[in-house]
Amino acid sequence: MNDCLFCKIAASEIPVQIVLETESALAFRDIDPQAPTHVLVIPRKHFADAQEIAQHDPKLAGELLALAAQVAEQEGLTNGYRIVTNTGSDGGQSVGHVHFHVLGGRSLTWPPG
Ligand code: 5GP
Ligand code: ZN
Repeated sequence: MNDCLFCKIAASEIPVQIVLETESALAFRDIDPQAPTHVLVIPRKHFADAQEIAQHDPKLAGELLALAAQVAEQEGLTNGYRIVTNTGSDGGQSVGHVHFHVLGGRSLTWPPG
């Protein structure tokens, strides 16, 4: 767990551009943005993925969703946006600390490539 990239970000050991933060969660800009707005929302506490947080702390999972919605509002995404949570290998998850992507500022196609 000490090797977790997003735990290090939550502990301010790796600098990020913070968008919003609460006692339990943090929203910061993705290092490789896929849209004009690309923000990651993470819990400060480590959970591997959406499955784990949903099972062990659904209240915190709800707080992440609420923070993602607040990010969209602050970023002015009045035309819509997308919240994505990649889970596991087939889901394309590359960092093993649950995170919600908030993407917006351009038209997003579905399904993603
Ligand atoms: P995943 O592929 O797990 O769904 O998303 C991981 C995201 O974390 C990717 O979009 C990637 O660009 C982002 N990311 C990886 N390393 C860093 C970093 O050091 N800082 C920031 N801000 N984002 C990162
Ligand atoms: Zn972690």
